[in-house]
Amino acid sequence: MPELPEVEVSRLGLAPHLVGQKLSACVARRADLRLPIPQDLHTRLVGHALTAIARRGKYLLFHWQTAGGWLIVHLGMSGSLRLVPPETPAGAHEHFDLCFPDTVMRLKDPRRFGVVLWQEGDDPNAHPLLAHLGMEPLSPEFTADWLTALVRGGKSGRKTPIKPLLMDARLLVGVGNIYAAESLFRAGISPLAPADSLHAARLAKLTTAIRETLLEAIKAGGSSVRDYVHSDGGAGSFQLQCAVYDRAGLPCLQCGTPIRQVRQAGRSSFYCPRCQR
Ligand SMILES: [Zn+2]
Repeated sequence: MPELPEVEVSRLGLAPHLVGQKLSACVARRADLRLPIPQDLHTRLVGHALTAIARRGKYLLFHWQTAGGWLIVHLGMSGSLRLVPPETPAGAHEHFDLCFPDTVMRLKDPRRFGVVLWQEGDDPNAHPLLAHLGMEPLSPEFTADWLTALVRGGKSGRKTPIKPLLMDARLLVGVGNIYAAESLFRAGISPLAPADSLHAARLAKLTTAIRETLLEAIKAGGSSVRDYVHSDGGAGSFQLQCAVYDRAGLPCLQCGTPIRQVRQAGRSSFYCPRCQR
């Protein structure tokens, strides 16, 4: 599944080729993905220049200032975006194109859990799918103070284990299962630790670990940013060298203790019982 780093790499890869270009056509080969694709996008956008490409969580936000709104794209479980020369025939599962004079941005989504939507106005976050998203972990507002306030929040603090809390998109966006596991290892915190039991200094370490883990993954995708036009899957999956994720039973890279796997909130968690408390 494309995670925040993959989506950010898509953004970085697409923006230099598309921003400032005028749209020549918009082609939807299906009426819907997970949700209906607006049928009036071509009429609405053709002749308008793309102003910017932003990101909120795992949503890509294409701003069309003169058309007065935002095209919102989510890659779902299996989606990818790539740039192809004009007149390139669409292959299987390639459902949606934004056509510019020199290039075509093509969305492929075999499982069709993605979305293509339109939000009128200046603020894309007004869309109901975006309105309740939590903090951006790469924004300057994501600080140790913020995380400390979060775990102390509620009537008597959040007693839930820290890992499912990090993965709750209503609180914090874009920290998927892999990134939660790796960040907690880096910070030396057990995924099972009750959130409100963690002191401010440990939460500060965790804040840094989350940011660094995401930035490293984005950097790992850097080569696909440079090769964007030629890559056949857009931003595919590039992963960190994982220290704990998917390494159940293998020795911890730091201390040699076998990595443990447990189920938490329906997901697998991996951690070193010695390095993480
Ligand atoms: Zn260890």
